[in-house]
Formats: sequence, C-alpha cells, structure tokens
Amino acid sequence: CSVFAGLAQAPEDPILGVTVAFNKDPSPNKVNLGVGAYRTEEGKPLVLNVVRRAEQMLVNDPTRYKEYLPITGLADFNKLSAKLIFGADSPAIQENRVATVQCLSGTGSLRVGGEFLGRHYHERTIYIPQPTWGNHVKVFALSGLTVKTYRYYDPATRGLDLKGFLEDLSSAPTGAIVLLHACAHNPTGVDPTIDEWEQIRQLMRSKSMLPFFDSAYQGFASGNLDKDAQSVRMFVADGGELLMAQSYAKNMGLYGERVGALSIVCGSADVAGRVESQLKLVTRPMISSPPLHGASIVATILKDSEMYHEWTVELKAMADRIISMRQQLFDALKARGTPGDWSHIIKQIGMFTFTGLTSEQVAFMRQEYHIYMTSDGRISMAGLNAKNVNQLADAIHAAVT
Ligand code: PMP
Repeated sequence: CSVFAGLAQAPEDPILGVTVAFNKDPSPNKVNLGVGAYRTEEGKPLVLNVVRRAEQMLVNDPTRYKEYLPITGLADFNKLSAKLIFGADSPAIQENRVATVQCLSGTGSLRVGGEFLGRHYHERTIYIPQPTWGNHVKVFALSGLTVKTYRYYDPATRGLDLKGFLEDLSSAPTGAIVLLHACAHNPTGVDPTIDEWEQIRQLMRSKSMLPFFDSAYQGFASGNLDKDAQSVRMFVADGGELLMAQSYAKNMGLYGERVGALSIVCGSADVAGRVESQLKLVTRPMISSPPLHGASIVATILKDSEMYHEWTVELKAMADRIISMRQQLFDALKARGTPGDWSHIIKQIGMFTFTGLTSEQVAFMRQEYHIYMTSDGRISMAGLNAKNVNQLADAIHAAVT
C-alpha cells in the first residue's frame, strides 16, 4: 500500500521514449534515429577534442574551486554567449542593452524566459510554429503563458508555408510573443530564406510583436556560426527588443552538461539592468544558481582565439557529415527507384529530416527493420552513417511501396 497507489502511469516522452523502446530491442542491427544527438561515422557519441582540452585545463588548474556561481551564472560565459549569437560588433552589446543569464541549456533558457514574460509582459500569448519541438508547448504553458500556433510547414511542398505564417501573425493580437527557431527548425528542417525572414520581421515589428528566438543549432545548420545567426541579427539590427534562448548541447556536444543562456535585448541599458534584476528573482527559487562546469568549458573555449578556431573546425566537420548523409540517403533512395520526390532530404537543413512518412510507416519500419524514429516521421540525420544508410533506404522503400 502507498499514498501514491492511485497514481496513473504517465506516458513516455514522445522523443525520449523512442530511445527507451530502442534500448529494449535486442536486435544487433537496430538503429536509433530518434533523439537529436550527434553520432560519429562509427555510430558513437562524440566529445569534441577542444572540449576535452578545455576540461583538462580546468581540472589541472589548482586555483579553481567548486564555489557557487552568482544567480546569473558565470559572467564571462554570459558575455561571450551574447557575443557569439549577436556578433562581436552588435550595437545592442556595445550599448550595454543586453541582459544575459546562464540557464540549464536551451530548455532552461526557454523556461526562465517564459516565466519572466508570464510575470512582466503585457501580452501573455505566445505563438509557436506548427509543428515545433514538442517540449515548447509544455515549457510555455507551465510558464503561465497561453500557447497558440502559427502555420509554418506545408506538407504538400515539404517547405515553408510563408503565406499561412504571415496570415496567422497578421490575425494575432498586437504585441503577442512569437517563438522563432533561429535556424535548423526542429522537426521540419525548413528555414525561411533571408528574404522571407525580412518579411516576417517587418510584419512582426509593425505589430509590436515580441520575438523569442530559440537557438539550439547555431553552427549546426550551415557549419558556419555567423551564417546561422543571420535571422537573429536582422532583428537586433533594427533596434527592437527580443529574447534569445541559446543551447550548447549540439554545437559543442555538451548535451548532459546543460549549458545555455537567456539573453534579453532591451531598449536601453537602464531597462536591461532592471530586467536582469528580475531574472534573478526567477532563477533563485527555481535552481538557486546554475552549474559551474559546463559554462567554464564554454568560456574557456570562447575566450581563446586558438581554441575557438579549433571548435569551428570540429563543428563544421559535424555539420558537413550530416549534409553528406543527406546526399547519401537521397542517392540510396534514387538507386532503389523509391516512388515519390525525396528532394526535401537534401533541401532541408540541420539535424533532422522531416520525411513525410506516416506514423503507420514509422511503426512498420520499427517492426520490420529495427529503425527507430519519432512517430511524426522525423529522422535524426546525425544517427546515420555509411553502414546503416542502406538499411534505412531499404526500410523506407519497403514502407512506401
Ligand atoms: N529547442 C529546440 C528546437 C531543440 O531542438 C532542443 C533540443 N532538442 C532544445 C530547444 C533544447 O535542448 P537542450 O535543453 O538540450 O539545450
């Protein structure tokens, strides 16, 4: 008997549950394309060399202690993170208009930003793309915001539904918060072009909407950190305000270290100071202060030009391997004469391909081919390699024919 005896069994998380099912499968040929975590050509997780090197330096430095960080986190980390996403020459940084706090990776940054808006922003509705990363809905709802969606993806073209996107923003209330994926949209792999971003920006600014950028893949989309930040920088360049949630999970491979930052670009340095003071009131009762180790790794790398360069090379290698897997999968389907247009595999960007496979086809591939992916047909390209790409192509071929 238990005081919790009446408790219902909760469902598995739709993304992490894929790994749970994968781990239970005894097949030696199983392939996990569910969770968005990078794998090497050998199918192994990767710790970047530059990260290992930074960790060695930290461990060997006898002057380093394990003291608490301030509520806002590691000051160097915060400054360098803002510089990384907004650019070294960003007017907002130069004018001291950015309040940055260290958070628990991308998720924690979204959560702290959401909570701040729920407490202090006048319009408590946030518009998120349809579809989006599944956790967005729950994170923002728990922050006290009303979550609504805007059209984003057109299944017919497997591309952007710009018209629907703009229409939905046009009919949303003035001042509404709009969540935007900075690059490598998850799960669709579909990003607006620069010209499309410009249209989105103009509409949002004309309606005084507040952009909340989620940047979980800077550098992972194109292999270039600045290119992947272009969308964000357009919104900073116009002088307007915005929120930015940054994650180092993917681009530095620091998944489990939970390293991220929330930056709020404000209209003036004075406002930024008050915003920071309020962010401390959000963080303190949630986690008291953020963890030291991961932020120290990031700061060590970002502040040393040689280590920073090594990082960009390793990051580009990860991005390039994913881009090459797109081509290999596309070629493998073409070689099999698989019916349908699969060009979206090479057109889409970032870690994922939104295949267009139905949940029935996904279940079939799991059953017959031991290939695991989320039921919306999203595959993590980072889990593919020369050895399993043919198995995936065989499975897709069988599923659609
Ligand atoms: N946003 C998006 C769009 C993501 O894909 C992810 C990771 N899957 C995150 C945020 C958060 O990741 P983390 O908390 O691990 O940084």
